[in-house]
Amino acid sequence: MSSTERSSLETYRLKKLIEELESKEGKATELISQYIPPNRQISDAMSNLREELGTSANIKSKSTRKNVQDAIESIIQKLKLFRTPPKNGLVIFSGAIPRGGPGTEKIETYVIEPPEPISLFLYRCDSKFYLDPIKEMLVEKEIYGLLVMDRSDATFALLKGRRIEIVETITSGSPSKHDAGGQSARRFQRIVEIAAHEFYKRVAEHAEKIFLPIPNLKGIIIGGPGPTKNEFYEGNFLHYQLQDKVLAVEDLSYTEEPGVYELVEKAKDVLKNVEFLKEKKLVQDFLYLLAKNSGQVTYGEKEVREKLEKGAVKTLILSADLGTTRFKLRCIACGNTKEVTYTKQQIATMSRKEICEKCGGTMEVEEEKSIIEELAELADKTNAKVEVVSTETDEGKMLMNSFGGVVAILRFSGQEQ
Ligand SMILES: [Zn+2]
Repeated sequence: MSSTERSSLETYRLKKLIEELESKEGKATELISQYIPPNRQISDAMSNLREELGTSANIKSKSTRKNVQDAIESIIQKLKLFRTPPKNGLVIFSGAIPRGGPGTEKIETYVIEPPEPISLFLYRCDSKFYLDPIKEMLVEKEIYGLLVMDRSDATFALLKGRRIEIVETITSGSPSKHDAGGQSARRFQRIVEIAAHEFYKRVAEHAEKIFLPIPNLKGIIIGGPGPTKNEFYEGNFLHYQLQDKVLAVEDLSYTEEPGVYELVEKAKDVLKNVEFLKEKKLVQDFLYLLAKNSGQVTYGEKEVREKLEKGAVKTLILSADLGTTRFKLRCIACGNTKEVTYTKQQIATMSRKEICEKCGGTMEVEEEKSIIEELAELADKTNAKVEVVSTETDEGKMLMNSFGGVVAILRFSGQEQ
């Protein structure tokens, strides 16, 4: 297992954060993004920011100048909380975000410890936050091995995220009909078979050299025109660890580099299934336990919350499509508190104030959190594992539509402990 493997909850959080920051836009070129890699000094960033602060005095527009300076000041304040950058570095976004009409903007500052190490040291002032390096972290970094072969050659390539890297092409030097000369057909056939066998062994050697050292190789896809690729696969020429990783053997029209591109195109469904395999499996595990009626699962927000509070949940499975929010309300007169979950529609029509059932006073929103975050925090307190599942698969859709998007696998089966 690689230590960089991210949990589904972390991926979900990163996506949400990017969505939120992407929606923000400054009135002018006044939003600041500061990237600090783990190997740089905080003091480097500080002195750089002080310099920018000095330069900003030249900005003509009075309001832009003030907003830029306030944003830089805010970043400097945040940096004072760090002696050294965290292990993956630090990213700070700050700027005046308009809330409504003119003059309504307020400085907002976001301090982010990225889930993967960042390599750039950068200060940027623009009308939007600079998010590309963080977005890059969302791209699947999984590596697949690609092998395209026919009788005359074999091409090895790697699929890294969305990038295709051609590694090498080897040729078989296999005798052609042209070389048959005066030999008997049978004898020539025998020579061809031996040559093919030698070629398969060489292909396997190269595959071993290229694919085997890759620590997190997700799978191998083989393709090519004609029966050669099948002969190679079925003949178990590959190192057993690689043979086990073969996901598909595809028919292609091309060989060499064009064949590699054709293979990636053809294997899209295979790759998609691999990506969502884990999500499907999670929901299937839940359905299996549900069907067994073992009392080892529960579903629905209320039921799951009760089990979470008792520390009875082993795995909490949430749909990424959950759009509800948990509100904590407090009465300003008597201190009575109440928690409620509202849907997006309910939030749109809610007054943010309710009448207290105890004293008739006014209850105000004290805290609000997306239901995913709120339940994930609850799970965290009792060391329950949290998984967030998309609605990209049938199983994911079922989780959302049939079970309200909140289910749990419990630590103990049966009745109340
Ligand atoms: Zn009250």
